[in-house]
Amino acid sequence: MTTHVLHRNSLIQPPRAVSGEGIYITDENGKRYLDACGGAAVSCLGHSDPEVRAAIIEQVGKLAYAHSGFFSSDPMEELADDLIAHAPAGMERVYFVSGGSEAIEASLKLARQYFLEIGEPDREFVIARRQSYHGNTLGALSVGGNMWRRRQFEPLLINASHVSPCFAYRDQKAGETAEDYGLRVANELEEAILQLGTGRVAAFVAEPVVGATSGAVAAVPGYFKRIREICDRYGVLLILDEVMCGMGRTGTLHAIEQEGISGDLQAIAKGLGAGYQPIGAVLVSDKINKAIASGTGFFQHGHTYQGHATACAAALATQRTIRKRDLLKNVVTQGDNLQKALVGRFGNHPYVGDVRGRGLFRGVEFVADRVTREPFDPSRKIHAKIKKTAFENGLMCYPMGGTIDGQRGDHVLFAPPYIVTEGQIGDIVDLFSKTVDQVFAAEGL
Ligand code: PLP
Repeated sequence: MTTHVLHRNSLIQPPRAVSGEGIYITDENGKRYLDACGGAAVSCLGHSDPEVRAAIIEQVGKLAYAHSGFFSSDPMEELADDLIAHAPAGMERVYFVSGGSEAIEASLKLARQYFLEIGEPDREFVIARRQSYHGNTLGALSVGGNMWRRRQFEPLLINASHVSPCFAYRDQKAGETAEDYGLRVANELEEAILQLGTGRVAAFVAEPVVGATSGAVAAVPGYFKRIREICDRYGVLLILDEVMCGMGRTGTLHAIEQEGISGDLQAIAKGLGAGYQPIGAVLVSDKINKAIASGTGFFQHGHTYQGHATACAAALATQRTIRKRDLLKNVVTQGDNLQKALVGRFGNHPYVGDVRGRGLFRGVEFVADRVTREPFDPSRKIHAKIKKTAFENGLMCYPMGGTIDGQRGDHVLFAPPYIVTEGQIGDIVDLFSKTVDQVFAAEGL
């Protein structure tokens, strides 16, 4: 079939998706797929929510879009009120954008401008963690720590350096407590700040629960508290990337709530509009808002579609629906069920090293050796084979082969819609189990 679309992978023509119902998508041939990853942890209300659909139709009937250089709008103002009413402590304003990478770009520029406003222009460095992904635009890519994604685009735009992630399954030493491990890796941030020079670092960027690059990896207790202390000690801003793990995905509205701290800037996207419209945002703390408002008063940034009225109406309806239907309770309950079912099925599997995550954000890591945790040779592309076979079996899951300090690993991420039922969790695990059996049999393992 010919196409004029520049698909990401030009070797494959994907089937055309034509309709969605609950947690299922149907393609042009009538084949139904169980969406166990919400696309890329996006579709948190499934694919046919009547309230979000009605809110979009109502807003388009009134006014689809008005440029934010001229107007505010009811949906934009109400969505900002709603987000701040439920935001982590200290958040005061919302800067709207159209997706996750834009939210990171805006966060980086807000951080930079904050230091210009308060007379600290030398703070031009950003520190992030290895094996991190913060978006594909060049600024976001510059701070991300996934070397495979960065390499071909170097030199990149921002002065960034990288410290270790908090990934206990991979890096906690024998005999080391989780707390000691957390402090050890958090302290790398202090070392990096001292090395770059105090007064030179603007921000540290991290995902509270790492999604795509590592497969639902939460930090050990105390890690983020220590990170907050170090940022405060050296006047470094903490940018939390909750693009994937936020907006209810881990069982609390914000993943960082479970760590007992707040960031200075927090990027949100995916679950904000649940995929019904493209939207992202940055939660901006009082301190940063005040510095800009009482300085130049003008954030030097902007996109044509920021605060898009229809996108804001969709996001507002999404957030209200999550609360009205008490869906975060279901995220916790079904998340526990998913974890139990995955452990039940794969707990003793010879090639499954770890099953982890929070809420409806779960990862399964495949290893060549359960004892040594040795990953598979990357050339086997286990994760890609699992994605392909699962899709043939009518299951959407989100597999990645990441790089951990040069070492590769294969994992699969599950992020089903918050409306998923216990029966559907069983279907996910059955289809996944069938897929894993097929892939390892074909590998001769
Ligand atoms: N940050 C994180 C943690 C992500 O997972 C993603 C996307 O997967 C992004 C940023 C970039 O978001 P987008 O693809 O909407 O630009």
